[in-house]
Amino acid sequence: MSTDRADLSFEFFPPKTEQGKIKLATTRQELGKFNPEFFSVTYGAGGSTRATTADQVAAIQADGFEVAPHISFGGNSETEVLELLNSYKASGVKHLVALRGDLPSGMGGAGQLVHANQLVAFIRQHTGDHFDINVAAYPEIHPEAESYSKDVYWLGEKFKAGANRAITQYFYTADAYFKFVDECAKAGIGEPIIPGIMPLTNYANLMRFSDSCGADIPRWLRWQLKERSDNMDDLVSYGIDIVSELSQKLLDGGAPGLHIYTMNQWQVTGTLCRNLGFSDNH
Ligand code: FAD
Repeated sequence: MSTDRADLSFEFFPPKTEQGKIKLATTRQELGKFNPEFFSVTYGAGGSTRATTADQVAAIQADGFEVAPHISFGGNSETEVLELLNSYKASGVKHLVALRGDLPSGMGGAGQLVHANQLVAFIRQHTGDHFDINVAAYPEIHPEAESYSKDVYWLGEKFKAGANRAITQYFYTADAYFKFVDECAKAGIGEPIIPGIMPLTNYANLMRFSDSCGADIPRWLRWQLKERSDNMDDLVSYGIDIVSELSQKLLDGGAPGLHIYTMNQWQVTGTLCRNLGFSDNH
């Protein structure tokens, strides 16, 4: 697929400090030049970033960009979720990323998580067709899944409830994505499944996070990254090559777009997008 037909979206997390907000304002301007479909903003486990997510959503809108707030029930009641949905709708938000989310660490089994298909149904019930709804998909399978086919089945239920497209957890093996898309097609899922791309910039963080979210770092890649873990420039430059190659393979193989986990940084993501032929002249 040529890049001019591929969707591009960028994910941010809500910054906690003033300095983080200032840095992210620059990131928005730099990545905005690529004319993304939207910037998405994560929602902390258990709804812990409800206010800061909404602040960042407003900042993105004030800059004139489309935004997709991530949303989950977290520990909230239906009334509280509805309030948030209505405030997004009133402010002109058109996209959402609807998730079950995870319990915040330390909460153990104290809370009740609402599955994403139920959240999608809730959003459709109360706001009709207003929102374009994205959901999560897992080419290497969600860590709590009962089985591969059950995980595909539940993705199908999210679409049946009214989701428009899925964004995947990150991965570094293109075949994991292609085989997953094939299995989804066999299960009757025809909606777009956009690969989520995580740039390789920090060895320790990546290892820690990947173990818990079920993303596989292939053994050869672990070794290559480990060898460069003391040399930031070397790691970043190697990482850009690997992730550019992966992304190109995905687009060439028919992936309908890319969703990039920017970690609120623009330099590496910008280089990746230019490597892939996306223009930043908008
Ligand atoms: P679900 O779709 O509900 O699936 C969770 C598990 O339950 C799966 O194993 C599935 O097979 C199974 N399942 C699904 N539906 C049912 C059902 N009705 N009954 C029984 N079993 C079911 N986390 C955050 O906290 N904040 C974020 O902003 C955030 N953004 C994300 C963005 C993307 C693109 C992705 C891929 C993940 C994101 N996450 C985020 C992580 C996500 O919240 C976790 O992976 C979470 O564990 C699962 O969320 P889900 O929406 O995929 O859940």
